[in-house]
Amino acid sequence: MKDIIEGFMDLVKERNGHEPEFLQAVEEVAETVIPYIVQHDIYHGKNILLRMVEPERAITFRVCWVDDSGEIQVNRGYRVQMNSAIGPYKGGLRFHPTVNMSILKFLAFEQVFKNSLTTLPMGGGKGGSDFDPKGKSDNEIMRFCHSFMSELFRHIGHNTDVPAGDIGVGAREIGFLFGMYKKLRNEFTGVLTGKGMSWGGSLIRPEATGYGTVYFAESMLSTKNESLKGKRVVISGSGNVAQYAAEKVIQLGGKVLTLSDSSGYVYDADGIDAEKLAFVMQLKNVKRGRISEYVKVYPNAAFVEGKTPWDVTCDVALPCATQNELNEDDANALLRNGCMCVSEGANMPSTKEAITAFHKAKILFAPGKASNAGGVATSGLEMTQNSLRFNWTRNEVDIKLKEIMANIHDTCIEYGKDDDGYVDYVKGANIAGFVKVADAMLAQGIV
Ligand code: GLU
Repeated sequence: MKDIIEGFMDLVKERNGHEPEFLQAVEEVAETVIPYIVQHDIYHGKNILLRMVEPERAITFRVCWVDDSGEIQVNRGYRVQMNSAIGPYKGGLRFHPTVNMSILKFLAFEQVFKNSLTTLPMGGGKGGSDFDPKGKSDNEIMRFCHSFMSELFRHIGHNTDVPAGDIGVGAREIGFLFGMYKKLRNEFTGVLTGKGMSWGGSLIRPEATGYGTVYFAESMLSTKNESLKGKRVVISGSGNVAQYAAEKVIQLGGKVLTLSDSSGYVYDADGIDAEKLAFVMQLKNVKRGRISEYVKVYPNAAFVEGKTPWDVTCDVALPCATQNELNEDDANALLRNGCMCVSEGANMPSTKEAITAFHKAKILFAPGKASNAGGVATSGLEMTQNSLRFNWTRNEVDIKLKEIMANIHDTCIEYGKDDDGYVDYVKGANIAGFVKVADAMLAQGIV
């Protein structure tokens, strides 16, 4: 089996040159899915995984815009349309200086499996730009978004490809992007998700990724007759996912000890409660400030510069910042301090070695493609509401989100339970995500 996986990875490496993040994501899937393919005649010999790692389409384009000092800036825009076997391409846009083809291909590849797991009819895609929104004025953001959409619009549509937000793309950016799409096409459709509530957005969409990550953690804990009540929870990040993960942990009776950004983390031994979280939301979403400001208002807390929070003693860890933010040493520190459950809110935040350490220790570990699927699932619910020209209530959407997360959890158990009873959620998510997409590809023939 090792030979088959290595042979497959050699081929993928040959074709994808130096794309480390993409290769990392593919290898994780190959290791769990190839043994399944070999055991199942309907997939064996069809090169199905080789077809899945090749994007159906990937475009790059020039994005020119004028900054506030009148200078012309040039950035690169991307959209990777990975797989449309089960529905229109669906996935976020990331604006961050680290964005490149490797990162977007890894994200688009993960999205295919994640979207499949939601049970909603969505294919996978991802896009974005190396544009850095940090320190830019609202007008600069608007000019960039308008320029970005003046090319992207010809590649997307509500039945073709439906982008949404990701790192650096929130409600403000979705608004500017939607405005330009509507002007160019002269049509009002659900071409983007994460829209404002008064113009086609879905209630609970802003909260959904963070809430879903916590619902998933709660489901995992319940298999051990545990819950989040009274648990010490360490969270990384302080953007949309981290904020609403913290909100849900607090609502369920857990104690949130940390939040972070690229400058370091804050540690509040008294717990970040609802009032302190409201301060963080204002700081991050309105003032667009740094997390270190927290300790000026709450001096009992400490700011630890340039570090991630994984050496803080906790019961549950929720990595909600970015890819590869939690390495083997971090995993060992968490295990040493008694952490029993890790639910990923970000995409691929744990390195391969970190995941191996969690699996060896047999703790509860959920990969982002399962545990953070609540965001895109609620995007799927936004698409449905747009097609129906109807809005569900907050409670209706939350019930559906909870159902979807519980269903993903059960599916992971179905496909991921090892002989000794340990649930490998990585294996479960990869195989379950694969089966639905592979079946659709087989039914549609070689296209
Ligand atoms: N960017 C989010 C993710 O990684 C959401 C994508 C969407 O809503 O389409 O799943």
